[in-house]
Amino acid sequence: MSDKFDLIVIGAGPGGYVAAIRAAQLGLKTACVEKWIDGKGAPVLGGTCLNVGCIPSKALLESTHQFEKTQHANAHGIQTSDVTMDVKQMVARKDKIVKNLTGGIAGLFKANGVTLLQGAGKLHAGKKVEVIAADGSSSNYEADNVILASGSVPVEIPPAPLTDGLILDNAGALDIDETPQRLGVIGAGVIGLEMGSVWARLGSEVTILEAMDTFLAGADAEVAKEAAKLFKKQKLDIRLNARCTGTEVIDGKEVKVKFTDAEGDKEIVVDKLIVAVGRKPQTQGLLSDDSGVTMDERGFIFVDEQCRTGVPGVFAIGDSVRGPMLAHKASEEGIMVADLIAGHNVQVNYDAVPNIIYTHPELAWVGKTEEQLKTEGAKIKTGKFPFAASGRAMAANDTDGFVKVISCEETDRILGIHMVGGIASELIAQAVIAMEFCSSTEDLQLTMFAHPTVSEAVHEAALAVDGHAIHMANRKKR
Ligand code: FAD
Ligand code: AMP
Repeated sequence: MSDKFDLIVIGAGPGGYVAAIRAAQLGLKTACVEKWIDGKGAPVLGGTCLNVGCIPSKALLESTHQFEKTQHANAHGIQTSDVTMDVKQMVARKDKIVKNLTGGIAGLFKANGVTLLQGAGKLHAGKKVEVIAADGSSSNYEADNVILASGSVPVEIPPAPLTDGLILDNAGALDIDETPQRLGVIGAGVIGLEMGSVWARLGSEVTILEAMDTFLAGADAEVAKEAAKLFKKQKLDIRLNARCTGTEVIDGKEVKVKFTDAEGDKEIVVDKLIVAVGRKPQTQGLLSDDSGVTMDERGFIFVDEQCRTGVPGVFAIGDSVRGPMLAHKASEEGIMVADLIAGHNVQVNYDAVPNIIYTHPELAWVGKTEEQLKTEGAKIKTGKFPFAASGRAMAANDTDGFVKVISCEETDRILGIHMVGGIASELIAQAVIAMEFCSSTEDLQLTMFAHPTVSEAVHEAALAVDGHAIHMANRKKR
């Protein structure tokens, strides 16, 4: 094998592996370096997303959602009794999905002619890449272009050091194979809420401690408020303004969690504790001192809008650079950079990145929130439509939540679409397309939506912006 490539990608997560495949499709001689190996020394591809992130968490969320739906099937006249969950089988199913998908990437690499280099990649000056194998031996390669796609790892906090089987990060949380009677979660962000939901559905008493006093500060306030109300009904005990200050493992069996809230010092005892306080870039050891690539104090690699580092031909994408830590954002950056290297001029539209929380109901949004727009002084108009007024949502017995469209008062351009509802993760794609095409509210209003569909709520919310929703009293004052 020649040691010179057109492109070397470091990291085979959804940023790196997608970039490598796209580059190979465009005719570039491409290698992808990945350090992750399994217990048998075989390469593990797909990064956080496929192995310990998006996919396994969604597998558990889907299984537990099906379980919950079955429990409530009598609403449809379906008689059920003694619905039980085999948690070990649920976890095994999740593992099988992960195995299929990660194995699939190896197949895609082969089919597209991407060379997999196993080991930890380190960038040196002159776009030289050293690959250090698990046994410490190293090989050296050169490339015209390098993409750094090393992703992120969970943040650990001193008050809650990870403890085998008891205090867990996201990877450990995905492998719990018995329903804990009492589950504690630190952090009411996306991961904390998703993991809390999985176990609450199976009967755990879930307490989520959140240091901030605002619930889901990044979401539209109306959406966050509705979600908080619905999560409370689901018996997720979310304590805001509650900062974890310490933990103590008792008899190797349970965990005392100390925290402070507005009333002072408190503690709870749980059977498992999940630490979900965010993620940080995984850039340690990635760059030699002479690489020329610079990072900020938190380890994020500095890049411009098109993911260029300061070194010509060296790019960085995904969780290790600015922007939301999302798999689709990482992949789109990977595709953009591969295209740039191949000579096409493309850009990621960072104003149209969808955000989703896969609880039930789901939260999804794209664009700016009402609060952000008001702070910016924008003149806006909004329209809301509840799923309770959707015939299809009623048929599905899934009527919680609403769709909210925010548009510019002067130009009618859509500035944000926010929703909380049963299949918001699917509906949001329509909103992203509308925003990607710079749609006006009128464009959405004039679009024909099939009946009866849950999607009609998006249409009706757009109509509601001008007081014209049909299936809701919403006439605007003249
Ligand atoms: P990663 O997926 O972290 O991949 C980086 C890869 O690089 C890893 O395989 C790592 O081993 C490798 N690597 C690192 N350094 C080196 C090196 N020096 N040499 C060789 N290899 C190296 N996002 C969503 O969009 N939707 C979701 O539903 C979602 N759910 C999530 C649920 C959980 C529990 C978690 C933890 C995350 C979730 N995310 C979700 C976030 C998503 O997983 C990340 O945004 C995404 O994986 C980032 O992709 P990446 O390619 O930048 O990095
Ligand atoms: P996310 O970044 O979306 O995964 O969310 C992580 C959440 O954890 C944030 O909302 C933080 O405010 C919260 N958090 C961080 N440290 C603590 C702590 N010590 N106690 C409680 N919550 C915390």
